[in-house]
Amino acid sequence: MQSVLDLPLAVLPETVPGLRAEVRAFLQSEQQEGTFRPGVDTWLAGFNPEFSKRLGARGWLGMTWPRQYGGGERSALERFVVVEELLAAGAPVAAHWVADRQSGGAVLRFGTEKQRRGLIPPIARGESYWAIGMSEPDSGSDLASVRTKAVQVEGGWRLNGTKVWTSGAHSCHFMITLCRTSGATSDRHVGLSQLMVDLSSPGVQIRPIYLLTGEHHFNEVVLDDVFVPDDMVLGRVGGGWEQVTSELAFERSGPERFLSTMQLLVEFVRILEPCSDPRSLATAGQLVAQLWSIRQLSLRVAAALDGGSTPNVQAALVKEIGTRFEGEVIEAVRKAALHGADEHGAFRQLLTNAVMHAPGFTLRGGTNEILRGIVAKGLGL
Ligand SMILES: Cc1cc2nc3c(=O)[nH]c(=O)nc-3n(C[C@H](O)[C@H](O)[C@H](O)COP(=O)(O)OP(=O)(O)OC[C@H]3O[C@@H](n4cnc5c(N)ncnc54)[C@H](O)[C@@H]3O)c2cc1C
Repeated sequence: MQSVLDLPLAVLPETVPGLRAEVRAFLQSEQQEGTFRPGVDTWLAGFNPEFSKRLGARGWLGMTWPRQYGGGERSALERFVVVEELLAAGAPVAAHWVADRQSGGAVLRFGTEKQRRGLIPPIARGESYWAIGMSEPDSGSDLASVRTKAVQVEGGWRLNGTKVWTSGAHSCHFMITLCRTSGATSDRHVGLSQLMVDLSSPGVQIRPIYLLTGEHHFNEVVLDDVFVPDDMVLGRVGGGWEQVTSELAFERSGPERFLSTMQLLVEFVRILEPCSDPRSLATAGQLVAQLWSIRQLSLRVAAALDGGSTPNVQAALVKEIGTRFEGEVIEAVRKAALHGADEHGAFRQLLTNAVMHAPGFTLRGGTNEILRGIVAKGLGL
């Protein structure tokens, strides 16, 4: 029976074992050199430009993009393997994360040739970092209600408005900003556009919003009469809604949606070994089984992306199940830890950080309620 949820089988290319071994060897040598300490949620929290540049130098950024723009012309499945190894190791991948996952791809799909040549190679080298300028104080789930407005002036656009929860904006170079270029908010999807804002432009104010841990990842970005030249409009003026929704399969389906707490699980299994409390062992087994099934789903979405389709419904499913799993890891491990498995310092640190980061897992990139709505609609309900 044909279903909207059907996905192609993911057959990993023959290159994968070699590639995986290469990434593992790299990560081991980085850790031996002490360049990073494995963490949780490192695609948000692990901002390390030097590490990103080393990944770029090895061809592990922009992996699927054409060579002429600095890419590697490899498959989405090969990229998947590199990314899952980096995340599973708790490596610091936040600097390049958004640019590599979605901004570069968006410029490739919708940008002009000049934009591609100018903007994509620095991303592939790990030198150019991008933020997502979608959410606003009164627009999150209902993204089409954004009120940031751009008015056409000679040679470009004047942009006014406020973006919020903008991860990494204080350390990024550009922000793809969803804004209204015509019409009123009541027109919903009509009249939205994407402008690539240079975050060092006059009129851009970036204010920190601190996490429960005291860390600074989020921001409020105030755009006060910011000039954006015509050649930094991404795609079609008025085509912002179609463009932004086409990024979603990339944004929602990847291993970062179920591996944010992987280092906690790894450390939990490691300290369990000598203790072998049957309940804790059962917990570990159950979590690993869950992880393996979600990974299969995510891999199959990557195979569909490789085949040129946009599996938004299936991607929503990966994110909904995956981010719930990330939270379940914390809860299960926390309960088990109460039975005496929490003596190890690194474990305790990972658990504390995971608990503090957890509230964001099911919110960022679309809340679980919204994702369930997308799946239900996709199923024709
Ligand atoms: C860690 C983190 C990083 C983020 N990074 C970025 C970023 O870099 N750039 C960016 O633009 N945004 C970012 N966000 C913002 C994120 O995309 C929004 O928080 C999210 O889309 C929800 O929007 P909101 O916070 O306005 O909540 P709201 O949309 O106000 O929702 C509030 C509650 O109501 C529920 N709800 C809303 N509408 C419906 C509905 N139709 N049916 C059922 N329930 C509904 C929601 O599920 C939620 O529980 C980030 C958020 C987090 C937590």
